[in-house]
Amino acid sequence: MNQAGTDRAPTEVKTPAMPVIELRCPACGKPGPDGPLEKSHEAGLYSCPGCDLQFWYPAKMPGADWYEATYRGRDTKAMPLEPGHLFFLDDPHAPKIGRLLDIGCGNGSFLAAARDAGFEVTGFEPDHNAVRFAQSNYGLKNVFASVPEEFRREHPDEIFDVVTFFEVLEHQEDPQKFLDTAKSFLAANGYVALSVPNRTRWQVGMDPLDYPPNHLTRWSPKALRNFTERNGFEVISIRQQPLTTRRAAQMLSGLLTTGMVSRVAGEKPLVLADFAEMPVDTIQQKMDRLANDPRHGLAMRLAGWKSRLMMPVAVFLLPFLRRRGFTGLYLYCLLRRRLSPAVAPSGNQSPTRRDVRA
Ligand SMILES: [Zn+2]
Repeated sequence: MNQAGTDRAPTEVKTPAMPVIELRCPACGKPGPDGPLEKSHEAGLYSCPGCDLQFWYPAKMPGADWYEATYRGRDTKAMPLEPGHLFFLDDPHAPKIGRLLDIGCGNGSFLAAARDAGFEVTGFEPDHNAVRFAQSNYGLKNVFASVPEEFRREHPDEIFDVVTFFEVLEHQEDPQKFLDTAKSFLAANGYVALSVPNRTRWQVGMDPLDYPPNHLTRWSPKALRNFTERNGFEVISIRQQPLTTRRAAQMLSGLLTTGMVSRVAGEKPLVLADFAEMPVDTIQQKMDRLANDPRHGLAMRLAGWKSRLMMPVAVFLLPFLRRRGFTGLYLYCLLRRRLSPAVAPSGNQSPTRRDVRA
């Protein structure tokens, strides 16, 4: 029904006197994202209208001691290679020899595999425990406790044929600065291989790892392609991990929320975002308490059993879920530096406004 008078703009337009914070995308520099899409503690999740990146603001990377406190157990244990590592080592378009630098090399499992495959390997990683493990367990010599700018300063002449960073980019508060530094290690026409969590994966409920201060950006295949091509790379391979039976079982288990695990544990499970503002010694105390709490141990085992019970259902549903386009966690990408001068990234001189130093 048409109502007379309602099709005209009001004659008096009041400008809201609210403070305007001009947020800029940390990847492409474009201002004006909508949002926030989601909140976590003090931070909001914003979506860039220019390049498809989602990023948290305000967001700050924690120091090495935070990772050492929260990731412990993972940094001193031989872990199987992750899908991104395997995609690279099996990639027919990837180089098979040469000098390789792995940024955020963790406890060295990939570096050891790359060395055994024929590469001359170097890596660095902020977590001291992980570096010690890489040296002692795999006999890796060129592994350092360091961060990108520090390593660059201490090794000013080092150039590599391949620079890799698996599950690292999403931890960066300034992805542009990180990629600039990574590129500074790269030979002309060199390769970059990386992986990030795929934002377009099948996810039921929240992924507790995907919040600040742990992950500060969320990448889709489109966002990753936009970011890397604008920075002078050619995308050689881009691969979304297919959904696996195990992940399908975990997601199906997540659909059947019963509250059982929380009841057995006697508290809501802690997620990394809960550790955002906590002093590191408090995190350590909490982790110690959980490690020695039999109720927590039982709750974790129950969650594992529940997921395993879903395996037959997952096996049955997997072909259907894959046909529907449901993918796994990892997004892998192989890039080659273009020989021609890179197109200067537009507007990247002013990355996301930060309250803290970059
Ligand atoms: Zn953007």
